[in-house]
Amino acid sequence: MTHIVRRALLSVSDKAGVVDLARRLAAAGIELVSTGGTCRALREAGLAVREVAELTGFPEIMDGRVKTLHPLIHGGLLGRRGVDDAVMAAHGIGAFDLLVLNLYPFEATVARPDCTLDEAVEQIDIGGPAMLRAAAKNFRHLAVLTDPGQYAAALGQIEASGGVGDADRFALAVAAFNHVANYDAAISDYLSAIRPDGTRAAFPDQANGRHVKVMDLRYGENPHQQAAFYRDLRPAPGTLATFRQLQGKELSYNNLADADAAWEAVRGFQAPACVIVKHANPCGVALGAGPAEAYERAYACDSTSAFGGIIAFNRPLDAAAAEAIVGRQFAEVIIAPAVGADALAVTAGKPNIRVLEIPPGDGRNTHEVKRIGSGLLIQTADTHVLARGDLKVVTRRAPTPAELDDLMFAWEVARYVKSNAIVYAAGQRTLGVGAGQMSRVDSARIAALKAAEAGFELAGAVMASDAFFPFRDGLDAAAERGIAAVIQPGGSMRDAEVIAAADAHGMAMVFTGVRHFRH
Ligand code: 5GP
Repeated sequence: MTHIVRRALLSVSDKAGVVDLARRLAAAGIELVSTGGTCRALREAGLAVREVAELTGFPEIMDGRVKTLHPLIHGGLLGRRGVDDAVMAAHGIGAFDLLVLNLYPFEATVARPDCTLDEAVEQIDIGGPAMLRAAAKNFRHLAVLTDPGQYAAALGQIEASGGVGDADRFALAVAAFNHVANYDAAISDYLSAIRPDGTRAAFPDQANGRHVKVMDLRYGENPHQQAAFYRDLRPAPGTLATFRQLQGKELSYNNLADADAAWEAVRGFQAPACVIVKHANPCGVALGAGPAEAYERAYACDSTSAFGGIIAFNRPLDAAAAEAIVGRQFAEVIIAPAVGADALAVTAGKPNIRVLEIPPGDGRNTHEVKRIGSGLLIQTADTHVLARGDLKVVTRRAPTPAELDDLMFAWEVARYVKSNAIVYAAGQRTLGVGAGQMSRVDSARIAALKAAEAGFELAGAVMASDAFFPFRDGLDAAAERGIAAVIQPGGSMRDAEVIAAADAHGMAMVFTGVRHFRH
């Protein structure tokens, strides 16, 4: 339904297009009310306008700090037709049907290098956001314009039908709340970053009021980059961001990034598991009877890469696991859902090792964000969980129960390996991981190399691939290495050829129907 516009309130800092808009509104028979500066601009253009001060009987005071904060204004913006009519009449409140308003140019002002704190503070608009919120809240009865770019379409509707339609009023209200939110974020960013001496911090304590700084980091990925760690205002319980550091050196940017990868990977397993991460990729993953055994098995997969690694457990760290680690290798970070006092007594012998405890919780990071230039790429997190029932056996030979267990295990690991990802596994442990290669064949070669270096036999092992095999050569190479079973998404144009290759080699192959690219 269109709500007929009879009376409009105009109060704009950015006066672009406002005279034309007001002229056409007046021509449509709409009464105009306006604040000081806007009113002057409209009168100079020869338009009949009522000033807010006239309407309220109260002057603008304090250099404009108080202009519109009056019940006759806010009542006119907030009054519900059909609900508040009597009270409006009793107090002589006239309804507004249209608000045209944009806020003080706060961002432009603070962007000036010579802007002082006092100048910035004067650009904090008080009445404007109040009016915008009032009008946007009352979108059933009012249209609100916050951007000169919206004028033409709204005018077109008003001239054609007397008002703005329901859906458009709602969309305009949402835009108004966004305008206020961006404005408030700019104020909070600026004030959070300003130091008492007037200089600005690169990493303020708050960002957009939605993230709270936990710590400045010594540097970023490289020493010439600056960095800080911020936590969501309400972090999902159980995610790495909620860590408590129990001992060890200051955490670095790379420590935190790798710790997140290790923790998210290890959380995916039900049985006791250990994940060792280097440069954001798992270099050893294993299940075991307990943390110590899981660690031993994960470490054996790639003991060279494990040096200086990030080691995560999905069970409380006990003394046995702590002893196994400190007796064997240098580790940057150990992460566990709990750390026993006896385990801490062991790690205390290596005071540089950072030990993180993640309080319990099954919250997940729901979105991933990446910056591309001055833009954001946002996606929902890859939380797909594969059930055995989702698997499609595509070969003549079906996997044995033991192969199936290893296929599921290898698939779970592969989703945390950067693409192209190839994982060889057997007995619920990785034998070789090939990560981050531009060619799948190279990833497979590297995974085989790793397995050979660790002294593992690939005969009878399984292979997981994060995406489909485009040609049969990947299968032929795997068969040469003795791989017995394969898990992969399927979906290649040449699936038939790839399946035929697996059959020819007597392999079992299952398709998951989903892929796990990770970049
Ligand atoms: P004008 O140039 O018309 O005098 O002022 C327009 C600006 O004043 C708009 O950006 C509007 O958001 C702002 N404004 C309107 N009412 C008030 C008020 O009561 N206090 C303050 N600080 N700003 C207001």
